[in-house]
Amino acid sequence: MIIAERMARLGTESAFEVLARAQALASQGQDIINLGIGQPDFQTPENIVEAGRKALSDGHHGYTPANGILGLREAVAADIVKRRGVEVNPDHVLVVPGGKPTMFFAALMFGEPGAEIMYPNPGFPIYESAIRFAGATPVPIKLHEENGYAFDANEVLSAITPRTRLIILNSPANPTGGVVPQIELEKLAFGLESHPDVAVMSDEIYSRMVYDNQPHHSMMVFENLRDRLILLDGWSKTYAMTGWRIGYSVWPENLIDLATRLCINDHSCVNAPTQFAALEALNGPQDDVDTMVAAFDERRSVIVEELNTVPGFKCPRPGGAFYAFPNIEGTGKSSRELQDLFLEKAGVATVSGTSFGEFGEGYLRFSYANSIDNIREAVRRIKEVLESN
Ligand code: PLP
Repeated sequence: MIIAERMARLGTESAFEVLARAQALASQGQDIINLGIGQPDFQTPENIVEAGRKALSDGHHGYTPANGILGLREAVAADIVKRRGVEVNPDHVLVVPGGKPTMFFAALMFGEPGAEIMYPNPGFPIYESAIRFAGATPVPIKLHEENGYAFDANEVLSAITPRTRLIILNSPANPTGGVVPQIELEKLAFGLESHPDVAVMSDEIYSRMVYDNQPHHSMMVFENLRDRLILLDGWSKTYAMTGWRIGYSVWPENLIDLATRLCINDHSCVNAPTQFAALEALNGPQDDVDTMVAAFDERRSVIVEELNTVPGFKCPRPGGAFYAFPNIEGTGKSSRELQDLFLEKAGVATVSGTSFGEFGEGYLRFSYANSIDNIREAVRRIKEVLESN
């Protein structure tokens, strides 16, 4: 067999490998605390599950339009007005199986040999993977620990070349929990006026998980970018629906047909009952979301406080999502060494910062989608292991 060369350029998401190793250790009887995987530890709210069940009983078993049922796209548009204060045409909304397809579609649409695509580093690993797979050159946007893991807009603007086609942004962010201040977003949006051919994909999948009474700052608000902005959001994190596989994107007028064509080629449509469940998620009561976010907020305080008691760790307080990203340089060990040590010796799953790009060395990602008792116990164990290693 001769496998296409592009397959060698496909990366991965190591959190899934850590999960598999953690599950293997657990099945051998080891007590594992999983702070590795990025998914809420809550069940999908019952009203949403019931809407999915009802859709099956009501006979929604067939294909839907490739871009999603109209009612759901209208509900997404209404949600965007409510939370971002921006009018969106429901025909520009694309319902897709999760957050990931939008990254891939954007990378395929703009990426080819000779093209450059910028992406946050450390950042969600699929960005770099999709860019390389498309044949384009990934250009990292370095995030700065001292600035809450935000990018510096001037640095981003000065790295644009005539080959830059797309800039990927993510706030609140995985793996850092960082929230980019509005001022940096404004500077970037303003500076992009001088680069009218550069598109932007803003991954806002953690938009509902912003703490300290701060609003979510969306790239959608910048009028000057609207005809070249792709918004990525979805239900996975907000409504604890990671396994349902549904997300959405909003595309500019001139790209939506191409994006829909990618859906038709790739998966035809998102499964119908899931779309009805997602509709209930948006239209139904939001109390469960508030409860989950409040629980994450409480755990955030606990994990930051606990991690700062680990010798060699320095953990800034993340502004969003459900990740803590301590600087671990003071331990004298590499990120990957610590990931392996903690999993094998302490039974604590975390993810090495290097799984999120070259600038992730010196950091470790802790997902705090776990109970406070488990977080405290995990930190107790890693301190014990560090003392004896
Ligand atoms: N974007 C970011 C920043 C993420 O962290 C994730 C998942 O961890 C996704 C997108 C993908 O979400 P989904 O599971 O809906 O594909």
